Amino acid sequence: MRILGIETSCDETSVALVENGRTILKERTHSQVMVHKEFDGVVPEIASRQHLVYILSVLEEVISPGQMTEVDAIAVTQGPGLIGSLLVGLGVAKALAYSFQKPLVPVNHIEAHLYAPHLFADIAFPYVGLVASGGHTLLFLVRGFHDYEVLGSTIDDAVGEAFDKLAKVLHLGYPGGPIIDKLAQQGDPDAFLEFGKRPQLLPDTERDRYNFSYSGLKTAFTYRIQHLDNVESKLPNICAAFQREAIDLLLRKSWNALEDHGISRFVISGGVSANSYLRKQVQAWQKKGIETFMAPLEYCGDNAAMVAGRAYHDALKGKYGDLRTDAYSRLGFVRKGKRKV
Ligand code: ATP
Ligand code: MG
Ligand code: FE
Repeated sequence: MRILGIETSCDETSVALVENGRTILKERTHSQVMVHKEFDGVVPEIASRQHLVYILSVLEEVISPGQMTEVDAIAVTQGPGLIGSLLVGLGVAKALAYSFQKPLVPVNHIEAHLYAPHLFADIAFPYVGLVASGGHTLLFLVRGFHDYEVLGSTIDDAVGEAFDKLAKVLHLGYPGGPIIDKLAQQGDPDAFLEFGKRPQLLPDTERDRYNFSYSGLKTAFTYRIQHLDNVESKLPNICAAFQREAIDLLLRKSWNALEDHGISRFVISGGVSANSYLRKQVQAWQKKGIETFMAPLEYCGDNAAMVAGRAYHDALKGKYGDLRTDAYSRLGFVRKGKRKV
């Protein structure tokens, strides 16, 4: 089954043609990062207009109208994401579905992130899955593509958001994650914490055993940076210290989930799964008998291949949309007996 996927949830305009959820036949992505850089973050109004400007040329690079006969379904990110941006992708997807008489498969963006590593490997179930991105930090117990539960999530900021916010405080540019990652490689995390004590982020109480918290970390670093002189020369150490705290929290809570559920398979995805320190630590878990999976760097962030890939499994389940399908900005996962995340 060949699926044409469209992703426009944030600031990447991406289209991909994927066969049977595994083979990426063609893909094009236009990143708006240069436009949003000057505002130190994504400006929703500009993002949706940029999608409008670029989506048809991105689409035409992937497929021509004559080749549409080879496509079995049109997949599109339905949410969560920026509503104006999502509607551009959804509008184009509906137009294609209508004019070429193809079924429409609406895809959940977070399920698509979680799917990205499946494009590159056969991953057996069950596993503990971590989606760490710009807007979400979610820990899942995954028993199947359509059988999973949310174990935990952030109680305040998302981890990627924390990287971006710290970068803003340090005037490093946008997006902050890759810049902090790079600077941290030359830094010593202990040098910044010269008072010798690492902050204890969100202890493992019963309530928060799988939860995350990042706003306190960002505030603590911001406050300390304000009282430092010569910040420029200390940037690598600051970044290394921040990165270690932020990523070690992801690792500790994920490890809790693996241990408590007796699971020895771990999958990471989302923009933050491109972090070099995280990837190294997760790979080291293999020595402890954990099978680990992550997408190649270019598939950690937003891309249409993961949308078309995930859509294959939704289509097999008969989860189709229609011309009345709507977009949504927020996530609707409900934690067992808990609030919506
Ligand atoms: P969501 O998927 O939650 O809707 P999003 O689509 O904006 O949000 P992604 O594109 O998956 O998020 O990821 C972007 C985030 O990943 C940004 O916050 C960015 O700083 C972060 N990021 C990218 N590379 C790295 C890295 N090497 N280290 C840490 N963070 C990173
Ligand atoms: Mg992006
Ligand atoms: Fe994303």
